[in-house]
Amino acid sequence: MSVAAPQGLQALRKLLGPEGLIERAGGFGPYECDGLSAYRARPLAVAIPADAEQLGAVLRICHEAELPIVPRGAGTGLSGGALPHPQGITLSLARLNHILALDPASRTARVQCGVRNLAISQAAAAHGLYYAPDPSSQIACTIGGNVAENAGGVHCLKYGLTLHNVLGLRGFTAAGEPIELGSMAGALDSPGADLLALAIGSEGLLCVVSEVLVRLTPKPPEARCLLASFGTVTQAAQAVCALIASGLTPAGLEMMDQAMTRAAEDFVHAGYDLEAAALLLCESDGAPETVAAEIEQMRAVLQACGATRIEESRDEAERARFWSGRKNAFPASGRMSPDYLCMDASIPRARLAEMLAAIEAMQTQWGLRCANVFHAGDGNLHPLILFDGKDPEQLRRAEGFGAQILETAVAMGGSITGEHGVGVEKLSSMCVQFSRAELERFQGLKQAWDPAGRLNPGKAIPELRRCAEGGKLWVREGKLPHPELERF
Ligand SMILES: Cc1cc2nc3c(=O)[nH]c(=O)nc-3n(C[C@H](O)[C@H](O)[C@H](O)COP(=O)(O)OP(=O)(O)OC[C@H]3O[C@@H](n4cnc5c(N)ncnc54)[C@H](O)[C@@H]3O)c2cc1C
Repeated sequence: MSVAAPQGLQALRKLLGPEGLIERAGGFGPYECDGLSAYRARPLAVAIPADAEQLGAVLRICHEAELPIVPRGAGTGLSGGALPHPQGITLSLARLNHILALDPASRTARVQCGVRNLAISQAAAAHGLYYAPDPSSQIACTIGGNVAENAGGVHCLKYGLTLHNVLGLRGFTAAGEPIELGSMAGALDSPGADLLALAIGSEGLLCVVSEVLVRLTPKPPEARCLLASFGTVTQAAQAVCALIASGLTPAGLEMMDQAMTRAAEDFVHAGYDLEAAALLLCESDGAPETVAAEIEQMRAVLQACGATRIEESRDEAERARFWSGRKNAFPASGRMSPDYLCMDASIPRARLAEMLAAIEAMQTQWGLRCANVFHAGDGNLHPLILFDGKDPEQLRRAEGFGAQILETAVAMGGSITGEHGVGVEKLSSMCVQFSRAELERFQGLKQAWDPAGRLNPGKAIPELRRCAEGGKLWVREGKLPHPELERF
């Protein structure tokens, strides 16, 4: 704890009052972790500012008192990005939860960072509009957290990620100076370097977002879904590429392998084909005549790729039934084994079949099962490695299995993250993805925005020491590279 920390806490008490500052260990429970609950820590205190003005003041106090800050939205993150700093302040943005303006004419909404993703679509529904990026956690996660993670979802193949649906944002630097990035007036471009794109996906390391201008999309009048069965995973993967190559952009294109389909069926009773090696969910949305034409085109491609069965949703209830297993895949996985490790990696779509075959081979190598459910159209995998956490040996193998999946993704030209960020979970994997020089450049960027390193320290960008300890730097004849660096 810094020497000035007690004065900082005193100033926060004065600013926020008892309802805005939690200092009792008993009150830390909900803040000790995010969705990656294997990592837990207690902060020094939790600050809950009521508005942007208080938020700026909190940051300025923390800056003066040299207190680390961990921004937190709804805490649904899956990579430990909102894990508290034991000597720092967790900054809960839950009270900045107002929709400030909704303009159907420009199809935009100006919202505070703590507004839930789904709440934007609910508010826009009256105007026939919605906010397209739809993480499965959308009922709870906040737009600020979505911006920090560049969140995705089923609809992102057609409508883009958070990055493509945010026009501007307001926020504060680590020192509490106000900043504005992109265009809060809703212009498609803004002068200067595109710092908005840099801030989106920066995992709370560069700035604290207080307000976001999002793009709204007209609600399609119709949506229909095809549920296609395949005799092999390879055929299903090839069908994904063939659909895109045919010029179609499905409104959703998701895959489940047999292990996942069986678990999901047991959970939701959707009537899935349990004999299929893989199922594809392929959706079209838009004007009814467009949907009818696209569905026929999709059907033809799926058939040409060897689909053994194709069902088409006839109404909304049936469409919901098709999606129910996919949407409940994670809770359904709990029926297959006591624990699972949910990985998140992206690969070029064209290499899906190869990757799935590699994961199958890894099951034998590591002696563990793996169920697959994923955003096939995006090439974004979510392998669920099944294990029993009570057995430390199984946990060790599960972690090794997961690391090998990430390394294989990188070797295929893919990425160690899809949509869940790096947080604390994938710090070591960053050393697989990036060279020392690239990591140094990331550290340089962080320094330019936050010279004292107060915003979310220890997340997303590994220290070079970590890469060496993780064995990811090439060590020849017992000599580490760059011994002159203190950390080594
Ligand atoms: C069941 C489940 C399903 C999920 N499905 C998806 C999915 O389909 N797609 C997907 O992309 N993700 C998914 N996620 C992950 C998670 O919901 C997203 O990453 C989401 O964007 C996190 O939002 P949050 O408000 O909960 O952020 P938090 O978890 O609170 O924080 C996430 C990161 O953002 C930073 N942060 C939060 N708010 C701000 C702010 N205002 N300014 C600066 N930094 C900030 C935090 O410091 C942290 O690093 C899922 C999670 C769960 C539990």
